[in-house]
Amino acid sequence: MERFCWGGFTIIILAALRRDGAARIPARRERVKIGAFRDIIATSLEKGDVNRMNLHEYQAKELLHQFGVAIPAGIKATSQQEAIEAAKEIRPSGPWVVKAQVHAGGRGKAGGVKFVRSIQDVEAQAGRLLGSILHTHQTGPDAVKVHCPLIQDGVDIAKEYYLSCLVDRSKKRIILIGSSEGGMDIEEVAAKTPEKILTLTVDPIAGVQPYQARDMGFKMGMDKKQIDQLVKVLGGIYNLFVQKDCSMVEINPLIVTTEGQLMALDAKVSLDDNALYRHKDTAELRDPTQEDEREHIAHEIGLNYVALDGNIGCMVNGAGLAMATMDVIKLHGGEPANFLDVGGGATAERVARAFKLILSSSKVKAILVNIFGGIVRCDTIAEGIIAAVKEVGLTLPVVVRLQGTNVEAGREMLAKSGMNIMAADDLTSAAKLAVAAAAQ
Ligand code: GDP
Ligand code: MN
Repeated sequence: MERFCWGGFTIIILAALRRDGAARIPARRERVKIGAFRDIIATSLEKGDVNRMNLHEYQAKELLHQFGVAIPAGIKATSQQEAIEAAKEIRPSGPWVVKAQVHAGGRGKAGGVKFVRSIQDVEAQAGRLLGSILHTHQTGPDAVKVHCPLIQDGVDIAKEYYLSCLVDRSKKRIILIGSSEGGMDIEEVAAKTPEKILTLTVDPIAGVQPYQARDMGFKMGMDKKQIDQLVKVLGGIYNLFVQKDCSMVEINPLIVTTEGQLMALDAKVSLDDNALYRHKDTAELRDPTQEDEREHIAHEIGLNYVALDGNIGCMVNGAGLAMATMDVIKLHGGEPANFLDVGGGATAERVARAFKLILSSSKVKAILVNIFGGIVRCDTIAEGIIAAVKEVGLTLPVVVRLQGTNVEAGREMLAKSGMNIMAADDLTSAAKLAVAAAAQ
């Protein structure tokens, strides 16, 4: 495992739990061999963006609080002055913790979480973080910008636990995961001592049963007072997960304070993108600055787009055809720069927008358009391609494979356009042309 994703730990655990290892994220080297489908899944899992909208820690904690989980007092700040005021409001004197709010874990080890004792240090740490770029082992090469630090009550920790909730697809159930070994080295715990990772499968009708929660707490080594609190915490996480249509809730660490109280000291929540339409409140929590810019634009205009590492831009209609196209590119030695499904209603305007999106990546050296004109006729698509090529002043080679209704008219339009467009009759020759063009 070379990289961990946002909530990557939960995905790793899940993979370990599965006998078939279907959720295992292949290493980049391996992925090249596996093919396009795995590539998309793996890339998306790494970024955590397949059907997911990630929340910031402070947003996740507010949700947990709504569902009865205790959290330390905290206020987010967007300036040093706000950070000072926040700190004073939280407690009259230190300690406080200044935490970078980014869509990535592993902040502690990357200098994104600082324990401070004076107001001067709150100011200094907030100033250092604001606008800075944070690299953690979860961000990979794509570092993220810090816009707002969270100023938090610095609490005394007696012990750190780990808790999370997600769907185990192989079981068709929501599961809760717990470990006595929470904190910053949990990934190592999972790798070296997997027996310390406990799971609890929730019956969808009965919900989390108190005996199940008590059993988990007991196995985690908690005392009676802590176990009573854990029953409420697990119920709260589960209710949050179900009621807000989450795809992941992770609390690491869940702490016991020196006073014996269970608290979520850190939290990550991902929401299921496909259910956002029924949660106006949580849908508003999206932070586009933390997302891949092109993927965000694609989302706004309703295109299915996933950025990849290759240099052949792909524009295809239909997700299945898009995958097949990427597979054929790989078969002929090329690397796709993206997955893009323009959808069934590939109008001239959508085609133009998709083109601009593909071109906004400087990696792209050639474009392969593979469109089946079913509902939308090939001449309409050709019109869109020509308009888009003109509009963006395209100089890159474009290979077009059109099939379907009015294909002759479409091809003729492309041929007569006088542009740098290579027409191909079938997918194999289209892929070969695109791979050759990108290699030049
Ligand atoms: P992450 O590294 O991105 O997961 O950030 P966390 O919020 O989990 O913080 C990392 C570590 O900082 C935690 O595991 C704690 O050990 C420590 N930490 C965070 N907040 C506090 C706090 O209020 N008090 C103390 N004593 N330690 C804290
Ligand atoms: Mn953490």
